[in-house]
Amino acid sequence: MREPILLTPGPLTTSLATKTAMLTDWGSWDSRFNALTASVCQDLLAIAGGERSHVCVPLQGSGTFAVEAAVANLVPRDGKLLVLVNGAYGKRMAQIAQYLGRDHSLYVTADDAPPCPAELAARLRDDPAITHVGLIHCETSTGILNPLAELAAVAAAAGRRLIVDAMSSFAALPIDVAALGVDALIASSNKCLEGVPGMGFVIADRQRLLASQGNSHSLSLDLLAQYDYLQRTGQWRFTPPTHVLAALRAALDQYHAEGGQPARLARYAANGARLRDALCAGGLRPLLPASLQAPIIFTFHAPDHPDYQFQTFYQAVREQGFVLYPGKLTEQETFRVGCIGAIDQAEIEQAAHAILSTLRRLGWLPAVH
Ligand SMILES: *Cc1c(COP(=O)(O)O)cnc(C)c1O
Repeated sequence: MREPILLTPGPLTTSLATKTAMLTDWGSWDSRFNALTASVCQDLLAIAGGERSHVCVPLQGSGTFAVEAAVANLVPRDGKLLVLVNGAYGKRMAQIAQYLGRDHSLYVTADDAPPCPAELAARLRDDPAITHVGLIHCETSTGILNPLAELAAVAAAAGRRLIVDAMSSFAALPIDVAALGVDALIASSNKCLEGVPGMGFVIADRQRLLASQGNSHSLSLDLLAQYDYLQRTGQWRFTPPTHVLAALRAALDQYHAEGGQPARLARYAANGARLRDALCAGGLRPLLPASLQAPIIFTFHAPDHPDYQFQTFYQAVREQGFVLYPGKLTEQETFRVGCIGAIDQAEIEQAAHAILSTLRRLGWLPAVH
């Protein structure tokens, strides 16, 4: 029996080499562990294209901790954040601003509609108090890809700073923080890098980070303090997630061996196309048109049957070795299937077969001829 395949956007299925990298205990004072931290941060910075302009600050915790740290440090206490919202993670960034007491406003579009660059330009023109724009690159609640380059150009032209939650796109989709003029880009160990959960990181504009003294409301989330301590001592400020970092080092080695970002994108795109084609051929309908879809996670409408229940469907597919993800839309019944992780077309085909045969057996999807 093999382990279940996680068709979720992280935690996701990791390779054996990544898992075995966690069999060593590391002392947090050990110079070899400090070297591991430095090498991981260097690689992450290079993937982001920020070696000359930015720094990589790792942070203990899940991805949201790092988003909160980025907003806390880079949006000054008298700043104002305009959050572009078309899903749950955009709402979460706005909620973070609320918790931190940062003035903010929202530009909301529908779950299946990316924000419009011209509308962003108009909103920035109309509200000079806005200092920062917050954007979710791939909104994982549906899988929609937001137009980062176009929106970044609008923010730059209006003289506003940009904070990008690239949690579910980083390392798969191309991103160049220097060219885009990003203040802070946030991602984590356990998505397209195919590491295990436990750390996030912020790729921060060096000058902006150094100027952020006094902004953070939080001791443990103070990115500048973390950066400063790492610079001075080579160590994390508080207990580091040693095994997570070792696993991420192994995952990065595999990433480079695979061919880096273009190769990872190609594998995910092939996985995603195979998944979408197979489920559509079986009679399921995707939420998004292919033109708006990132090759990360796909949202499908639930079968139009009065007895449909995600929990029953989930359990039956789980018994065949595949873990699905519930939908995250309030208005429509949907479910999600991820195509990222240490998986290939073989696993995707098996998963599509398990999904369709289960729905037919339950009588919720008509058999196709
Ligand atoms: C996964 C994810 C996060 C962070 O979620 P955590 O559960 O805190 O790791 C934030 N934003 C996006 C777009 C994500 O996909």
